[in-house]
Amino acid sequence: MKKKIAILGSTGSIGITTLNIIKKDKKNFDIYLLTTNSNALKIFKQSKEFNVKNVIITNKQKCLKWKKTFAKNKINLYNNFENFNKIFKKKIDYTINAISGIDGLIPTIKVIKFTKKIAIANKESIICGWNLIKKELDKNSTNFIPVDSEHFSIFKLIADNNNSQIKKIIITASGGPFLNKKINNKIKISEALNHPNWKMGKKITIDSSTMMNKVFEVIEAQKIFNINLSKIDILINPNSYLHAIVIFKNGIIKMLAHETKMDIPIFNSIYDENHKIKFNTKNLDIIKLNKLNLSKVNQSKFKSLKVLKLIPKKHSLFETILISLNDELVNMFLNNKIGYNKIIFYLIKIINFKIFKKYCNVTPSSVEQIFKVRNIAKNIVL
Ligand code: NDP
Ligand code: MG
Repeated sequence: MKKKIAILGSTGSIGITTLNIIKKDKKNFDIYLLTTNSNALKIFKQSKEFNVKNVIITNKQKCLKWKKTFAKNKINLYNNFENFNKIFKKKIDYTINAISGIDGLIPTIKVIKFTKKIAIANKESIICGWNLIKKELDKNSTNFIPVDSEHFSIFKLIADNNNSQIKKIIITASGGPFLNKKINNKIKISEALNHPNWKMGKKITIDSSTMMNKVFEVIEAQKIFNINLSKIDILINPNSYLHAIVIFKNGIIKMLAHETKMDIPIFNSIYDENHKIKFNTKNLDIIKLNKLNLSKVNQSKFKSLKVLKLIPKKHSLFETILISLNDELVNMFLNNKIGYNKIIFYLIKIINFKIFKKYCNVTPSSVEQIFKVRNIAKNIVL
């Protein structure tokens, strides 16, 4: 039987990679739903190519403009995630959330009851609302798999172990485009977007260049694996061949290496090990393995790492403040409103404002509350 699947954010980097994997095994998939914010032309082409019957375009104007075209082609077009109730008649097999930013949180929470398995790339929703996501996962017996490559690796490395056996988790970082270059306020957008190893969406690429992405990934690991922050470290691996290392209390150290391609975590989130389809696995890259060049992060250069000291031990609304401030500042940089150095300079300055301290002790209780706090943070930056 065909696997029924949904791709939220199909027009972005992770979404397109997912579709390219499906393309090789098209006859075994029924793509039930694709979504985009505003890339109507691309999602229309994707829907035609994969014979998709349901599409969401969240941008109202774009949705209206394309209504007739979709109708003519017998594709149901919707404008928001409230329509999941109309779209899904019963649980589908697999959903990937490849939306970028905190706007991915609402669809994550809403889709869980309609899918047997959810793969989440959207780290912002995990960081801001993991306790709410986990509650929905448990309530609906939906399986979860992380797609961020480091977390996918940790997930695989600790699969047969109990959390209490873990001594340390190490997340690797490429160091981004400025690992061996000076960082200054004159850095151009194109330079910050020029990641040496990964081709990703703009927002995450800027976060990789400031290493804020690693701060987020440490928090993401804290949440997903329910592990104390003091047990999570970061190591630079410039060639991005190694994705995570787990040190166990019994002396065993496990590491996970794979080609620098998001195809691998995504492929493995779609197919289980018993499936006939095999990944086109390359031989061990001995040259890369001999040149891992692991080192500690230079914290006086990558000042974003200072933020780690502020992260509360329990789920809190502070994480939403952090994500929201960073979102705004990255946007401002991408729109030429602030210089490169100002992203982290303002972030650290604002996050230390007294008014935000109280959020460290508040556990998120609803999506609405998270979005209210996001607006408070956004308005302070603007
Ligand atoms: P992209 O920017 O390339 O794509 C984002 C997708 O989400 C697009 O389809 C976009 O639509 C849609 N989208 C954006 N904003 C909204 C919104 N407000 N409402 C509805 N849909 C929206 O991002 P990436 O694919 O790079 O990243 C996706 C997520 O995965 C991020 O959270 C990122 O941190 C994470 N991730 C990405 C990796 C990568 O290699 N790219 C690696 C690890 C994690 P539109 O096309 O209209 O803008
Ligand atoms: Mg990652």
